[in-house]
Amino acid sequence: MRSLVLIGHGSHLNGESAVAVYRYAELIRQRGLFDEVIEGYWKEEPSLRQVLRTTASTDVTVIPMFISEGYFTETVIPREMGLGHQGPVPPEGVARVIGGRTVRYTLPYGVHPSMTDVILARAREVLPDASPEDTALIVLGHGTTRNENSNKIVYQNADRIRESGQFAEVQALFLDEDPKVGTWPETVRSPRVVVVPFFASEGWHTLETIPEDMGLTGTVTDFPDNPHGHQQVFYAKPVGTHAAVADVILHLAEEASGAGGPGGDTERGHEAAWQAFLKGARAGLRIGEVLVTPELGVFELRNALDEGRPGGELTTLVTPEGVRDQVRFTDGGEHRPVHTLRNLPRGWRAVLSEADLRRAMHYVYPAVIEETYAHDCHALRPTPWATTARRQTGIYAKVQKATPAQVEHVAQDVCTGCLRTRLWAGQRLTHSFLDGVPGGIPCAEACTFVVAEVREEVSGKRGGGGHSHSH
Ligand code: SF4
Repeated sequence: MRSLVLIGHGSHLNGESAVAVYRYAELIRQRGLFDEVIEGYWKEEPSLRQVLRTTASTDVTVIPMFISEGYFTETVIPREMGLGHQGPVPPEGVARVIGGRTVRYTLPYGVHPSMTDVILARAREVLPDASPEDTALIVLGHGTTRNENSNKIVYQNADRIRESGQFAEVQALFLDEDPKVGTWPETVRSPRVVVVPFFASEGWHTLETIPEDMGLTGTVTDFPDNPHGHQQVFYAKPVGTHAAVADVILHLAEEASGAGGPGGDTERGHEAAWQAFLKGARAGLRIGEVLVTPELGVFELRNALDEGRPGGELTTLVTPEGVRDQVRFTDGGEHRPVHTLRNLPRGWRAVLSEADLRRAMHYVYPAVIEETYAHDCHALRPTPWATTARRQTGIYAKVQKATPAQVEHVAQDVCTGCLRTRLWAGQRLTHSFLDGVPGGIPCAEACTFVVAEVREEVSGKRGGGGHSHSH
């Protein structure tokens, strides 16, 4: 049995960031090579701190869904997941045994050599008849002075494609460092020019900055009076959103240190948690704001506030993905990075098989079943605020300066809208939803949302009333 975990950045502010990771998880699930594919995030749930607990097997491969190596892949992810590793990840990855699970952590997908094929596939999409006689290829990277690795990978890909002889010339250009993208008319001579952005996703850079810096008006732009004569530019979509990235992920997983063995077993704590939940679900159960009702071999989920409403008045969902997309936003359309905040949307019901119920619950309340069961077994160790604060680096290091009163002020503001009981602040949970108390859900550690809010508080940016976010 094998679990694959895809790690994305996620966002407290908008739901877009998680979508690319969902898409890859779906593509890989369809291939059926892993028993489960789970998404985890820095700024959403399940968080990097929680995600290992949500995997069902003792053989876990973790792949960072980033285009280049850097602060997140080398510092934040290994630290938050407790990998006992910091700094550059070797090509074969890092393997550790954590809490009875063998965890293999790989390089980010963007640095895998097979990304060269993805660049070529993107180029072919905009110019199927590119030729070594008259076509140039520009591999366009972000570039940054903070992390030299992010340009290295762009140069490596450009070198590999140049050596393959498929283009008259191949150049690596950057948005934020030399050689800058705006210099292309001086350095690129071919009459036809394909530009492939080496970016993770479509966004501000690919939609605005690059077209602006290059003078592009669409997928194909004519430049009649360039220094080297008439040129035509073909602008490709970013590499990170190509379906072939799923193959890159699978290559990485195959090559991960120690992969290819017999695989792992069912993780016993995880399985016991689900069995406890399913036992409750078969009898009918409330977990947080959700009502789980058994119905002739399937299960129905709905917001408990919609109890008793005729099914015809509600939108009926039949897949875990449908549930996922329903619960990502509040009724007011706001993104929900913390799923235990009491703002679950209403007006829907889901009818699911037992297997789909498991996946749906991962999306409705990520890590809640595993953490609550661990709590009830006295196996959930709270992390006091001071420890969480000490672990923070980069722009979050300043939360170490927060006074207990400031932390409490933020918690009063944010956590009172949350179902969870703050064990990390010394609160006690005597009965959980598994004992029939729907809101009985432990919080072992301040979430990244609260950490970010404490940072705002320390910076004096939360405003007088302290309500910079509404829930
Ligand atoms: S820190 Fe507060 S808001 Fe975040 S999960 Fe815990 S109780 Fe909820």
